[in-house]
Amino acid sequence: MTTLRFILGDHLSRSIATLDGLDKQHDVVLMAEVGGESTVVGFHKQKLVLIYSAMRHFAQELGAEGIRIDYVTLDADGNTQTLIGELARACQRHGATQVVVTEPGAWRVRDEMKDWSATLGVPVEIREDRRFLCSHDQFAAWAQDRNSLRMEFFYREMRRATGLLMAGPQPEGGQWNFDVDNREPIPADKLLPERERFTPDAITEAVIELVGARYPKNFGDLEPFGWAVTRTDALVALDHFIAQCLPDFGRYQDAMQSGEPFLFHAILSPYLNVGLLLPDEVCAAAERAFYDGSAPLNAVEGFIRQILGWREYVRGIYWLKMPDYAGTNALEAKRDLPWFYWSGETEMNCLAQAIGDTQRHAYAHHIQRLMITGNFALLAGISPAQLEYWYLAVYIDAFDWVELPNTHGMVAFADGGLMASKPYAASGAYINRMSDYCAPCRYKPSVKTGPDACPFNYLYWNFMLEHRAKLGANQRLSMVYRNLDRMDQARQN
Ligand SMILES: Cc1cc2nc3c(=O)[nH]c(=O)nc-3n(C[C@H](O)[C@H](O)[C@H](O)COP(=O)(O)OP(=O)(O)OC[C@H]3O[C@@H](n4cnc5c(N)ncnc54)[C@H](O)[C@@H]3O)c2cc1C
Ligand code: SF4
Repeated sequence: MTTLRFILGDHLSRSIATLDGLDKQHDVVLMAEVGGESTVVGFHKQKLVLIYSAMRHFAQELGAEGIRIDYVTLDADGNTQTLIGELARACQRHGATQVVVTEPGAWRVRDEMKDWSATLGVPVEIREDRRFLCSHDQFAAWAQDRNSLRMEFFYREMRRATGLLMAGPQPEGGQWNFDVDNREPIPADKLLPERERFTPDAITEAVIELVGARYPKNFGDLEPFGWAVTRTDALVALDHFIAQCLPDFGRYQDAMQSGEPFLFHAILSPYLNVGLLLPDEVCAAAERAFYDGSAPLNAVEGFIRQILGWREYVRGIYWLKMPDYAGTNALEAKRDLPWFYWSGETEMNCLAQAIGDTQRHAYAHHIQRLMITGNFALLAGISPAQLEYWYLAVYIDAFDWVELPNTHGMVAFADGGLMASKPYAASGAYINRMSDYCAPCRYKPSVKTGPDACPFNYLYWNFMLEHRAKLGANQRLSMVYRNLDRMDQARQN
């Protein structure tokens, strides 16, 4: 009896359900780098390096425990470059009598898995991914019978369920949410923390060479590559964030600054998403910082809300609503994604900065994704599918379960308000208030019409006019429409 345990590229946790009950004598762990999954979209080169290098390190760590590993590299002879192809070959090699795997992070792969057992001729056990704080059943039970789903209420349930930042039945500090304290721009003289970057070892160097040779045309810079690829280094990154950045995380959470993509953000999403870190340990580390007095409540609550609230919420929506979710297009947005999303070549400085950061680091922080690249695409009516392709391709932390709802729901409002109560639309004034992008820009955020007008200004009002029939009754936009009505007709035209 040989059980083949199949570990996917984002299943790199020792506690992954696939490894439960592992018998070192008889079982084999299969890991395979498959080109088919790497070319679903043309992923950023650094993302491919992260996944392959982290997989190779994880395999090495399991091997050191005496676990039998069958590892197929991208360039191995006979690699079929598909998950099912590699599984079938491995079943043959080892005479496997059953396969164990944990559910994947993409609906497409989950759907394909339904046929695996019939294709392979052996039973395939698909286990639940327990590395999240809310199971599919828990989320479905919470969502059932609610007229509208709102992250804030879900988050409160999760606070109660986990006890995080709770003082008995009440939220710590008497409030669930300290967002009003978390909207400051960065002062010009504020010192920013040096961020922990990791020097590639021989394994990572080999993967960098492989990715450079195989995917030279993919988006983004291959080097310098400074991401952690092991759990040990990811824990160092976590400690560094908690000690150096968390105290200021809340206050400057929405701020943007030229040439500074990381600011006080965690840069932990890639590690959480591939499994090098677990969400409960990250939340616990932040909570400890509050109780030992090293970080204020507004920062710790703001940070925990991102992971316990938003991260779990978007995952819940994804699995509850897919596959129909991806096909909605409530605002009937149809325009093509402008080429400058790939080249970064635009005179709009805010977009050039956010896209440039993305090219260099495979990273841009949340407000850049939401209020710069996302906001522009929303206002300009870019097709949600094209936008989703871009977000999935360019970010190191992009996986379908988390990228899709953020892009489709939060940015494009394509789900008609299922995920967010109003579109995240803003004019140049918001970007000017929260960043230093506007001063050197060729456009002026205070100018509303004419050649020097910030494009976000006229796109914003055009968006509100164009979608009045769908958005006009939204209570949260009533002030916007009142302002619109005060504008003279000539300007509206
Ligand atoms: C259009 C768009 C696309 C996005 N695509 C992704 C994606 O593919 N993968 C991804 O992990 N995040 C995505 N996000 C959410 C968020 O922008 C990133 O999680 C965050 O920027 C990662 O950087 P950080 O670790 O420094 O996060 P921080 O700002 O420091 O936040 C801490 C952690 O909270 C979690 N988090 C925060 N916001 C969200 C959110 N909205 N959804 C899910 N988790 C969240 C992340 O795990 C993050 O590591 C997207 C947001 C937008 C607006
Ligand atoms: S003026 Fe407008 S286009 Fe230029 S950086 Fe500011 S918001 Fe962006």
